[in-house]
Amino acid sequence: MQPLQCPHCGEAIPTHTHVGVIMVPHVGPLENGAALVTPQWYHSECIARLAVGSLAHVQGRCSCFVEGGPRGDPLGMTKREAARAALAAYRARAAWDDLENTPRN
Ligand SMILES: [Zn+2]
Ligand SMILES: [Zn+2]
Repeated sequence: MQPLQCPHCGEAIPTHTHVGVIMVPHVGPLENGAALVTPQWYHSECIARLAVGSLAHVQGRCSCFVEGGPRGDPLGMTKREAARAALAAYRARAAWDDLENTPRN
């Protein structure tokens, strides 16, 4: 059997534990009215990266916000390192937003 690989970063998925990995059902094309659903395993940081965007996107300096801003992950990082960095930045910002939005009296 082929070792499991994360579809986002291509690195190995640990098979001895489910900690830090998430199963996403992959729905294949319809054949005779039915789709083949197969489990796909992602690192949790990689599936989070797909939702929150790149590090530059989380920081609001990507090409979505700034003309000519970077697109995609930072150079010099693996896709998984970039996913961890994006998630860390997202968590830091979310914690800050919570603090800012908490009424103080
Ligand atoms: Zn991954
Ligand atoms: Zn963006």
